[in-house]
Amino acid sequence: NFLLSNMALNGGSSLQFDDEGTSELTAEIYELEMKKLELGTLLGQGFYGEVRMGVIRHSDGTEETVAVKKLKSVAMNHPESVDLQRECAIMKSLNHPNIVEIKAIVTEPSTMLVMEYVPMGCLLAYLRTEKEIVTDQQLIKYATDVAEGMAYLGENNIVHRDLAARNILVAAEDLVKISDFGLARQVGYNGYYVVRDYAQKLPMPWYAPESLAYWKFSVQSDVWSFGVTLYEMFSRGEEPNFVSGDHNLLLRALQQGRRLPCPPRCPPLIYRDLMRPCWDAEASHRPSFKVLLDKLRYVAN
Ligand code: ADP
Ligand code: MG
Repeated sequence: NFLLSNMALNGGSSLQFDDEGTSELTAEIYELEMKKLELGTLLGQGFYGEVRMGVIRHSDGTEETVAVKKLKSVAMNHPESVDLQRECAIMKSLNHPNIVEIKAIVTEPSTMLVMEYVPMGCLLAYLRTEKEIVTDQQLIKYATDVAEGMAYLGENNIVHRDLAARNILVAAEDLVKISDFGLARQVGYNGYYVVRDYAQKLPMPWYAPESLAYWKFSVQSDVWSFGVTLYEMFSRGEEPNFVSGDHNLLLRALQQGRRLPCPPRCPPLIYRDLMRPCWDAEASHRPSFKVLLDKLRYVAN
């Protein structure tokens, strides 16, 4: 497998203790036997997959609460199972405070992704229920956390392709983490990835024009989605829809220069200096996550 061998070469930090001879620990962390895992309440679900709360019963008698992503039984032998394996492989190679941590993988009876349980759920729901309470300072911290995680992904040549408030989890009032690597891909030497089978349902309102037009994805198209995620944050969970209709109408509107408006309660500086530059028609003119981090540090003070 190209991805796995590549990650072994990169020495993905969480894989490193393989070399230390702690194989038992590694085995317990990475290949979890189903009998040690108990599944509980449903946390979220899509068409093929679902995320449940779970408890790992460790051999030393301790228990650990986790979140488990698995396929619904109807999808077990679908191509989607390959997607979940890819998602596991990508997450295994990542280790960052603003990226949801993978704890283990179950392979039998089917692939399951076992990750840290993030107690306060997804940012979109959090923004909507707390909209009267969430402060601009808090949102600037969330944006910083996401930009830190995205800068790290970029350094590792991973494009996320589904960056949106629904895929950011709230760990604490002042800490968020990027999750859902279901569409993520490792990009090649050219820095972009072209989707071959675009029949799947893709999150169009978050997509850059080059993604809508040519199905081309890169760190810079993730920057565009980051801008849309900022819109979700500073509008306290509004849907980023300003064009109704299919992706061709959205693409045409974007090509004509139309963009999401400044949300009512959003500081104009955030809109002008952070959101809008992410939506530059020319991908190479969009700021990098490093530059966005500098701007965020500036507005935080
Ligand atoms: P999908 O591929 O179906 O979009 P996600 O990974 O986005 O799956 O997860 C769906 C939902 O499950 C999330 O929006 C969130 O509410 C919940 N969820 C996912 N992972 C976790 C986690 N680690 N801790 C707590 N809740 C989670
Ligand atoms: Mg999701």
